Amino acid sequence: MTSLDDLPLRDDLRGKSPYGAPQKVVPVALNVNENTHPIPEDVAHDIVARVAAAIIGLNRYPDREFTQLRTALAGYLGHGLVPEQLWAANGSNEVLQHILQAFGGPGRRALGFAPTYSMYGLLSGGTGTEWVTAERDADFELAPGTAVAAVERHDPDVVLLCAPNNPTGTPLSLDTIAAVADAARGVVVVDEAYFEFADPGTPSALTLLEGRPRLLVSRTMSKAFAFAGARVGYLAADPAVIDALRLVRLPYHLSALTQAAALGALAHADEMLAMVDEIRSQRERIVRELAALGYRPYRSGANFVLFGGVDDPHAVFEALLERGILIREIGLPGCLRVTAGTEAETTAFLEAMAAFAPARTAAGA
Ligand SMILES: *Cc1c(COP(=O)(O)O)cnc(C)c1O
Repeated sequence: MTSLDDLPLRDDLRGKSPYGAPQKVVPVALNVNENTHPIPEDVAHDIVARVAAAIIGLNRYPDREFTQLRTALAGYLGHGLVPEQLWAANGSNEVLQHILQAFGGPGRRALGFAPTYSMYGLLSGGTGTEWVTAERDADFELAPGTAVAAVERHDPDVVLLCAPNNPTGTPLSLDTIAAVADAARGVVVVDEAYFEFADPGTPSALTLLEGRPRLLVSRTMSKAFAFAGARVGYLAADPAVIDALRLVRLPYHLSALTQAAALGALAHADEMLAMVDEIRSQRERIVRELAALGYRPYRSGANFVLFGGVDDPHAVFEALLERGILIREIGLPGCLRVTAGTEAETTAFLEAMAAFAPARTAAGA
């Protein structure tokens, strides 16, 4: 048997582990922040029809510039954006990879604020970019002064701001984003993967793009849009940034099938996003009920909740799994993360958590 050690692998990849959130088939999967509501059937039929039409033309390469899709994405985002400011790829992970290929790379440094999305470190590693992290304030918040001090200390080529932050759920203020954008010499990426779950009225970093050509805002169709399996992420930035990303993308990276499916989903954006309010109310229910049980849920602007106060997170993770409920261990002491699912899934999770609740132990003591 050949092992990795026998291969002439890049030295900087030796000893690393791939992304590996468990993919188990369970009745209640609340571990990777998917939208657990299925796609509405009429939308699915329209997407099937569009994909079917695209199949007839698969003898030809797809539109390399995915012009229709960029136009639809600009329309969806609003904020006066034009198609020349839009980019898309196979998931926002690929968008982030393009950014690191173009603006990071050997001899360059990317900065994030830990704990944050684990893919930032992996994508930095894969592109030969040095990955450094700075600390957050209490309760995983990130004040402008804290963020700017880290930028000044590390002088990064790329700053990755996750807003709201995964795995903590912490919303990020525009004040912090603007302060980082003004202090940084490199590009500043705001990853708004969960933006649609923010409380109504929360402003997007898109409002800061004007006059800031090194500010990039990425989004995804994987979460609120219930389209994780299709792999579509996108970005809004200055047209010059889009030109930079063209230098590193593979030709025809977005298949004709992906483009057709994404256009179908965007044509029904209202219906695709119809469950967002319901998911947000399940998130609030999780925060409320976990707190009542004596756990310590953190503030969340996403479709998931991080909570502390768990004596033995691994034991609770395993006990939930035995009941067919999959949540996430994220390596933070005393903490676990759960996705807000349907009402029934949330009920199953909360009922199971009541069985291990600290409040109950305290009351009985
Ligand atoms: C889920 C997630 C994404 C989305 O990744 P895709 O490649 O678009 O599926 C991006 N950023 C963060 C922080 C996420 O949690």
